[in-house]
Formats: sequence, C-alpha cells, structure tokens
Amino acid sequence: MSEAPHITFDLDTPGVSTGHLVVPKGADCEALSLPVFSLNKGEGPRLLITGGCHGDELEGPIVARRLVEWLPERQTCGRVIILPVLNPPAVQAWSRNTPIDGLNLNRVFPGRVDGSVTERIADAVSRLLLPAADTVFDLHSFGPTWDFPPASTTHPIADVDLMAQTLQMAAAFKLPVTLLWDHHDTHGMFDTWAHSQGKVFVCAEFGGGTVGADNLVIYEAGVRNALIALGLVEGKAEFPTFRQQKSGQTLETHPPDELKSPAPGIFEPRCSVLDEVNQGDLIGILHPMNSLSGESIDIRAPGTSVVFAIRSGAHVDVNEGVALVARPLNT
Ligand SMILES: [Zn+2]
Repeated sequence: MSEAPHITFDLDTPGVSTGHLVVPKGADCEALSLPVFSLNKGEGPRLLITGGCHGDELEGPIVARRLVEWLPERQTCGRVIILPVLNPPAVQAWSRNTPIDGLNLNRVFPGRVDGSVTERIADAVSRLLLPAADTVFDLHSFGPTWDFPPASTTHPIADVDLMAQTLQMAAAFKLPVTLLWDHHDTHGMFDTWAHSQGKVFVCAEFGGGTVGADNLVIYEAGVRNALIALGLVEGKAEFPTFRQQKSGQTLETHPPDELKSPAPGIFEPRCSVLDEVNQGDLIGILHPMNSLSGESIDIRAPGTSVVFAIRSGAHVDVNEGVALVARPLNT
C-alpha cells in the first residue's frame, strides 16, 4: 500500500516554512512532491494561494513565486500558504488537462485518494490544504486560445452571505473586471468544493495566449490589492489600467451569453475584450474551412453588452464558444 497524502512539515510552525505536499503514487505514476510555502504570522486571516491548476496558464505560478519572495517581509499577521503549481505534469506538458489521465483538475474536486493522478492531487489539496484556510485565491489565466481581460471571477453561490463576501473579496482585487459567472460546467470545480466548505474562493483570470511582462504587473497588483483588503499586509491599493479602461466594472454572464460557432472553421475577431456592443453589432466572422463558396458567417451581438472574452488563435469546432458577453451586475 502506498503512503497517505501528507505535507512534509507542520503548517502550524511559526514564521516561514517550506516543504512539499506529497501526492501518493498510484497505478498511473509515481508520487508527486508539490512545493509548498507557509508564512505563519499567528492570528489573523488564513489564506491559500494556488496556481498552475491548468498547465497552459503560467501567469499564476509566476505571480505565486513572486509572492513567495515578496510576502515574508510585508505580511503583518495571519497565515498564508502558497502552492505555486497544483498540477506539475500538466504544466510540464503545457496542457490544460493532465496528460497522464486526460482529466481537468478543476473538474475532479474533491478528488479520490485511490483515483488517477489528477484525482489524487485534488484529494491531497482538499484533505490537507483547504481546511487550513478560510479564503482561497486560485490564479488562472483562461488559457491560450482566448483573449480575456484581467478579472477576478466567482460563480453564483446559494448561501447569500458567502456570495456577498465572495463578491466583495473579488472586487478587492480592483482589476478592470469583477465577474459573476453563471455557467453549467461547474461540477467538480475547486471553487464549487471550497464554497461548499464555507470558504471564500476567488479565481483570478487573465487571458491573452502568452505570458507578458505588462500583464504580470497588472495581475500581481490585483493579488496585492486583495492581500491588503484581507488585512494580511499594509499598503494602499493600486488601480491597474488595462487598454485605457477604468478599473472596477462588476459584470455578470449567464449560459446564453456564450456565443457559439455555427460551423467548424477559423474565427476572426472583429472586436476586442471590454468593447461595448449593441444588438446586431459584428463581434466576429467564422470562415468555414470545408466550404467551396468562400462565404463567411457573421457572429453578431445578441443585445447591449460588453464583450468579455473572445476566441483567438485556434481552429474552432461547430458549437464551440467563440465569444462571451456580459452585462453590469443587477441591471
Ligand atoms: Zn484555468
């Protein structure tokens, strides 16, 4: 029998501690040792920061590593646990899903101790790290095939108080957009599981295909703003601007707001993220590859909205999302 999942040090140790979250070996691969950083300054908020859930979203691991350098000198109270890379096999493969078992780590929570490797990672995190936190920041970037503005996101939560707390925490990032995102595919998400355990859980998202220095500045400022709002560090919030857009829109999006491709082909965006559109405005064009006519298909805005995410740089299949629109929350 293989060893149980464990952390190689005591999270209650005061000060800075480092070690590993050990995910036991299974039939599909050897044990994994995920670096963990613990910054324990006693009483106060308990925060878990994770990155690298999806292996093709590398801003999160980079920003998490920067925090490991920056935080020990500045944290005044409370506990912060940082796990820069949740899914090392996926990061090594630059793959959204784990290459070993093909699973999306963000759809298998709370995991299974005797499952495949992705499920074992989720189990170890759920069992050993999540209980040590009241708040979780999970650093994503929407993947390389979308353009997406810097945003903090959450999903609808049945518990009204937790919903309000979570939205308030998300807004504290002071990124250009705070998004309440209602979609159907939430089963097994880290968010959903953490919310079910009463935790405040916020995702940071920041798309654009490749990691860039300018984007990282905005991303890091957002996370620092949230640390200030939690009371873990002292300082003044910054208001990062993105494409001359003001900070602080709170938007909501629902399943019908995802515009789908009517045919397989190449999608040509005709607008940029955060553009405001009215009904019938051209959002993009689909160029079918199998058609002899050469006629393209217009994709138009269903109503007055903000273009929140737009597909870029990859062939799309029929019925695949090409744009996501949103509207101001509660209006
Ligand atoms: Zn992601």
